[in-house]
Order: sequence, then structure tokens, then C-alpha cells
Amino acid sequence: MQQDCEITLVLARTNADAARHARHSIILVPRQAEGLTVEGYDTIFGYDHAPYGHARLRFENVRVPVANLLGQEGEGFTMMQSGIGVGRIALAMGSIGAAERALFEMCRWGDERVISGQKLAERQVFADAVARSRMEIEQLRAYVMRTAWLIEKHGMKAVRSEVAQCKVLAPSMALSVLDRSIQFLGGLGVSHDKPLAEMYAYQRTVRIGEGADEVHRDLIARLELARQRELRAAPARP
Ligand SMILES: Cc1cc2nc3c(=O)[nH]c(=O)nc-3n(C[C@H](O)[C@H](O)[C@H](O)COP(=O)(O)OP(=O)(O)OC[C@H]3O[C@@H](n4cnc5c(N)ncnc54)[C@H](O)[C@@H]3O)c2cc1C
Repeated sequence: MQQDCEITLVLARTNADAARHARHSIILVPRQAEGLTVEGYDTIFGYDHAPYGHARLRFENVRVPVANLLGQEGEGFTMMQSGIGVGRIALAMGSIGAAERALFEMCRWGDERVISGQKLAERQVFADAVARSRMEIEQLRAYVMRTAWLIEKHGMKAVRSEVAQCKVLAPSMALSVLDRSIQFLGGLGVSHDKPLAEMYAYQRTVRIGEGADEVHRDLIARLELARQRELRAAPARP
């Protein structure tokens, strides 16, 4: 949360009896509203994610005018969902960027570091890691680009499975490349002189934030089972 943040968007359940996707509303609550306190900032593996951070907010009998309702009552879930799909593929793009940076750092170090008279980059084990990293990044990039193209062509709802697949695959790929990079940089890799440790912590968090891997895999499986049932139910081709 930015220190100069003036308005918070609160997603709250406003009607427990409404249809499943119409129970929540978004309410604008000024940061200075009476009853709203910032209790502190949570860290991720000890990193504070400055300047945005993760604020812990307490709301106690906070009252705001009805006009602070964003859109209509019950539209909160739909509004949040409309942004989340794009957010997830953007997270996947960020993971590709992180993996590129990790590979960049690894290759630079491989050319600089000489061990027992031989450059690290000239060792077979290093070349293997570089090749694996490049292949993993390109596989993911192609899949994310295809998914982005499908979103443009068919809309977000039609490609929920592909978006979920990107969200699951991308941070795991980045973690794999980051892990190799950290390993080859040795002590430097886990130090704060390089960004790799912080990037690793962040990518590990992406596997949990905006829906844990398991939740996305569950969606992918449900959509796939439905698709397969439709295939079986379709009339057989002559
Ligand atoms: C750094 C960070 C930033 C975040 N930012 C936001 C944000 O901006 N907005 C927001 O709304 N939320 C945010 N979150 C919350 C995030 O979406 C939740 O942490 C996440 O959904 C997991 O929920 P939980 O922490 O309550 O853990 P739980 O719900 O207790 O889940 C714990 C674990 O149980 C497993 N699990 C959970 N559900 C299932 C399931 N259905 N099937 C099988 N296994 C399951 C998974 O392994 C999961 O990691 C953020 C979290 C973090 C760590």
C-alpha cells in the first residue's frame, strides 16, 4: 500500500442471500475514514515489496455515504473478476521477464567467472543449464502469446483454462530458471548484491497469490472434463 494512498477499495459481502456471483459489492473507503487503521505491513520471505507492500487493514464500524458504492450493489464480484483474468496473464508475462533476467545474470557470470583455469561458461554442465533455461522460457512465451491472442479473438471467458494454465506454468518455469541461475552464481546468487533471491521469493509467492496452483489446476481439470464429455456426446463422424 502506497504511503500516500487516499482511497481503499473494499470488496465486501453485502447480501449473503443473493445469487452466488451477486453477493459482493465494492465500496470506496477514504484512507482517513474513522475506524480504518493500518495495523502494519506484512513481508514476503522478509522482503517488504516496497513501495506498495502488503498492508494489514482493520475496519471497525466504518461508515461511508451510499454514494461510495462503486457501480451497483452486487456487482463487486463481476468487477473484480473482469480485472483478475488480465492480471493473471500479466503475472505470467512478469514471470517470463524474471526468467530472462535470471538467464542474463547467469550467462554474464558464466563468462566472467574462471574456476580452475576454465570459464564457467565453457563447462558442459553450464551449457546444459543455459540451453534448458532458454527452451523453458521460449515454451512459456509461446504459450502466453497464444493465450493473449485467444483472449483478443474470443474474450476472456472462452479461454479460462489457458489463462489458468499460464498462471500455473509461468512462475514454476521462472523458479526453475532462477534456481539454476542462483546455483551458478553461488554465494553471490543468494546475496543482496544480485536481484535473484528477491525475484525467487516473489515468483514463489506468485504460486499462491491470485489463486493457488491447486485452485487453478482444479479449474483446468473441470473445464477439460466438461470438454471431453462434450466430445463423447457429439455424434460420431462418418
Ligand atoms: C503476497 C500476497 C499478495 C496477495 N495479494 C492479494 C490481493 O491483492 N488481492 C487478493 O484478493 N488476495 C491477495 N492475496 C491472497 C491470496 O490470493 C491467498 O493467499 C491465496 O488465495 C491462498 O489463500 P490463503 O492464504 O487464505 O490460504 P488457504 O486458502 O488456507 O490455502 C492454503 C493452501 O491450501 C491449498 N488449497 C487452497 N484451496 C485449495 C483447493 N480448492 N483445492 C486444493 N488445495 C487448495 C493451496 O496449496 C493453498 O496454498 C495475496 C497473497 C499473498 C501471499
